[in-house]
Amino acid sequence: MRWSQAFIPTLREVPAEAEAASHRLLLRAGYVRQVSAGIYAHLMLARRSLLKIMQIIREEMNAIGGQEFYLPSLNPAELWRESGRWDAVDVIFKLKDRAGHDLCLGITHEEEMTNIARGELRSYKQLPQIWYQIQSKYRDEPRPKSGLLRLREFFMKDSYSFDLDEAGLDVSYDKHVQAYTNTFKRCGVRALFVEAFSGMMGGSVSGEFTAPTEAGEDFIAISECGYSANLEKAVSGLAPVEDPVGNESPETIATPGQKTIEDLVRFTGERPERMIKTLVYVVESEPVVILMRGDHALSETKLSAALGTAVFRPATPEEAFKLHHAHLGSLGPVGLASTGHAKVRILADKALEGRRDMTTGANQDDMHLRHVTPGRDFQAEYRDLRAVAEGDPCIKCGKPLELVKAVELGHVFKLGRRYSKAMHANVLDAAGKEVEIVMGSYGIGVERILTAAVEQNHDKDGMFLPKSIAPFQVILTAANMDDAPLREAGEGLYKQMLAEGVEVLFDDRDERPGVKFKDADLIGVPYRLTLGRRKFEQGQAEILVRSTKQVQDVSLERAVQALKQHLLS
Ligand SMILES: [Zn+2]
Repeated sequence: MRWSQAFIPTLREVPAEAEAASHRLLLRAGYVRQVSAGIYAHLMLARRSLLKIMQIIREEMNAIGGQEFYLPSLNPAELWRESGRWDAVDVIFKLKDRAGHDLCLGITHEEEMTNIARGELRSYKQLPQIWYQIQSKYRDEPRPKSGLLRLREFFMKDSYSFDLDEAGLDVSYDKHVQAYTNTFKRCGVRALFVEAFSGMMGGSVSGEFTAPTEAGEDFIAISECGYSANLEKAVSGLAPVEDPVGNESPETIATPGQKTIEDLVRFTGERPERMIKTLVYVVESEPVVILMRGDHALSETKLSAALGTAVFRPATPEEAFKLHHAHLGSLGPVGLASTGHAKVRILADKALEGRRDMTTGANQDDMHLRHVTPGRDFQAEYRDLRAVAEGDPCIKCGKPLELVKAVELGHVFKLGRRYSKAMHANVLDAAGKEVEIVMGSYGIGVERILTAAVEQNHDKDGMFLPKSIAPFQVILTAANMDDAPLREAGEGLYKQMLAEGVEVLFDDRDERPGVKFKDADLIGVPYRLTLGRRKFEQGQAEILVRSTKQVQDVSLERAVQALKQHLLS
């Protein structure tokens, strides 16, 4: 392609609204333009790069026996009502047709794929199956962010495996982990495979491929020993806390105006790890009391797993008052059953199990209780509800955990029978008995690969995409197009590269060399072949490796071969 005829609207200024490096650079390099919050137009450079990413994904999916489908984005509500997700998932784009029928734009396709499976798969002999598609997905994101990370319309590769039993699912799952590992490697993106939480997908086991980068919105906990997990799922060890023997009975102490744990630490001189923090949530319209150690944070994701539902919210101060007969800041678990809510559910974080003689709210305004011993003074269900913090000891090796920001690139789920049960997708097994199909579901965010690649491969002048996903492999720059011999040599090299299958962008614009070099540094092409007057007179051209900015002189005759060697390396 000739730059003089290409649409590459580079920007000199850094767009003010763009925070992440990838967002700034993709705008500046003329890859994308924003249409609306979370909705982007892909221009020529982005499209070329994304098509390459999709092709790598396709090849790796085909290599594990995946069969490519294409399902519609527009889907009937009935299927989603059958699975129970129509009301449960709040980020679906829902619409009505002119006859008043409910429809949605696909955010994922478990229901539609299961619907095909149940109509067509009859026998265990037809299993296993892996069906995938690369397709636009829609998400009614409550907080669409600028940039290509939290989008309302985006490309996904989603695949679904159908097996007779768990052993089969294990094989399909492992195949996907391998395909994803290969995909990210071939795309030149550094990715970690971590344990993750299944969220709205349901199912028990899931893993996440995540790219460490500053622009990430997720945190992963990593340890020297190789332990790594999404923060939502991460667990850590705890240093033991020394409690008093705890023979004394609970005793009320006046704590006027002391509401937060920090207030209480100052007021009582007691350490926060000796306190019980009381939170009230409303879970499907019932109050649930959550207890955490004073210095620990609640993980709402772990809470969701413990509750078995994502439908919950923090109680309003009025709702908490109704339950405890005290205002926020004086709430506690002791005596809750006697205040008329005999059945109120109390969940306590595991860090409170076996503790003694602690301090917590007294359920009277401006009062707290000390000498409170869990198990003796109140009963609770103990669950892991604690969000891991930086520096907590690793459960495997005991060394401090590090929390790093990361972008989720892909997710693999063992769904089990969640959808086949709800939607009656059965096959006959070898004994002729009807059994539910065991499913897996697997996704890759296509734009996220590009975003992560930019985040991991840029400097102050622009980006240098991995050669496998860069929109072009080489920029050919004739420094001065007014210079007839130079221009002719450029035209000759351009034709030679096209003939030899090199994907080349020929900068034949009538611009100053400085402008051309700046643009070439910006737009993410990994190699530049430059024809400048001085070296040209000696029969030489210059190859610049954009990632290292290393320069190599080559003879004009050998230039294309030398480039091809770089591209193959
Ligand atoms: Zn470790």
